[in-house]
Amino acid sequence: MTAALAELRHRLGEIADLRRAERMLIWDMSVLMPAAGGGARAAQLESVERIAHERFVDERIGQLLDQLEPYADGLPYDADDACLIRVTRSDWEKARRVPAELSAEIAKARAESFEVWVDARERSDFDSFRPALERMLGLKQRYAECFAPYDDPYDALLDDYEPGMRTAEVRAVFDVLKPELTSLLAGGPSDEEEGFMRGLFPVDAQHALSLELLERLGAPAGEFRLDPTVHPFATNSGLRDIRITTRYAEDDLYSLFTAMHEFGHGIYQHGVSPSLDRTPMETAPSRTDFSMALHESQSRLWENLVGRSLPFWRWFYPRLQETFPDVLGDVSLERFHRAVNRVRRSFIRVDADETTYGLHIILRFELEQELVAGRLAVKDLPDAWNARFHELFGFEVPNDAAGVLQDVHWGDGLFGYFPTYQLGNVLSVQIWARVAEAIPDLEEQIERGEFADLLGWLRKNLYVHGRKFTPAETIERVVGGPIDPQPYLRYLRDKLGVPSTA
Ligand code: ZN
Repeated sequence: MTAALAELRHRLGEIADLRRAERMLIWDMSVLMPAAGGGARAAQLESVERIAHERFVDERIGQLLDQLEPYADGLPYDADDACLIRVTRSDWEKARRVPAELSAEIAKARAESFEVWVDARERSDFDSFRPALERMLGLKQRYAECFAPYDDPYDALLDDYEPGMRTAEVRAVFDVLKPELTSLLAGGPSDEEEGFMRGLFPVDAQHALSLELLERLGAPAGEFRLDPTVHPFATNSGLRDIRITTRYAEDDLYSLFTAMHEFGHGIYQHGVSPSLDRTPMETAPSRTDFSMALHESQSRLWENLVGRSLPFWRWFYPRLQETFPDVLGDVSLERFHRAVNRVRRSFIRVDADETTYGLHIILRFELEQELVAGRLAVKDLPDAWNARFHELFGFEVPNDAAGVLQDVHWGDGLFGYFPTYQLGNVLSVQIWARVAEAIPDLEEQIERGEFADLLGWLRKNLYVHGRKFTPAETIERVVGGPIDPQPYLRYLRDKLGVPSTA
């Protein structure tokens, strides 16, 4: 038994190393690599991916799991070894369902569709993107078929980002949100942008402030890096080597919110128990992370619930004024706080305020289910998008670049990913409510720039578990029940100053 366990751990440890190497190749590609390195890097990534996949789907892993399952049955459900064997079994069975030839074709289609999409979006020309999207949709439909029988083909795709979650469960949450968000949206106008938000904010000063912020929030020096990139993300090489990326503009302070958002992702990874190091439980065996909704709940918690709150700016605003005295010296705290919480209706998801954001996701969730099920043809997608957009938002999409072509996801094969963003928003508020119960003087602590209790609670109740449990089990553990949209709706009404209907 101990020999089988040692062999399994050894094999999984090697695969975890390959995955970490893969993540560092991607990090380097996005942060440091000269443009001409693209071809060589694509080949490296394909090789590492193939080797890691082959090693993982090996028969030997299955034999070891067969031997170890009786041992796991005798352990408590939450014991590390029991979780290791359960999680590895589920990942292994899933990975073996998809033929290597199909995975390779999807990877190739992803690489090829990216530039087509960039070009199509630039020219707002959906027709030039259509063949690439049709091909990708066909491949993902074949991918979903690998997991038949299912109640809904979308289940198979959603499962990659939210393991174990069913389409019907997402629909139940979104069915509550949709009418509420629509009525909140109809009730409120957009705020004008304040001129001072356009700077000038020199990039060096923003970088220094971001570093200072990360350290104060709880990123230990020597264990985190912060680098600029085009599309910010967080990744890691080990549990003590966290890479956060951000972006800067001299006429905007979004870098501070991006830094806090990516800090949330990074600190989640950083908080995984060292006993799960180099196992599938430290992070997922596929290219995705563990529950994307839980991950996003943490980026949103640090970005919005901490980073856009009044107590936070009571603490940090003087530092900001000191750094940019010409721009902010005469701007009051209240005015600044309002400006960073501006209600902003937008065609573009990533620019949308928190109310509009949820409707953006619901729109995509509905359309992608119809695409995957074959009820909507790609050629009819722009019309369907525009009609549905008008129905939900009450205004017209001006062109495809501001509509159906705005996101990279579908061309990249990420059907089933969008809902996790909104589930993350919903969960962030649910988790926040639990933290606020546990730490009665949370606001006062934040006002003093103290985050140790908050971080400690999140580590102990959430981060430490990594992927030991399914997302549903983890959510139950941390909030004491399933995903519930009500706290999130109360939070939005509060923010918008709309009296609660309940
Ligand atoms: Zn995120």
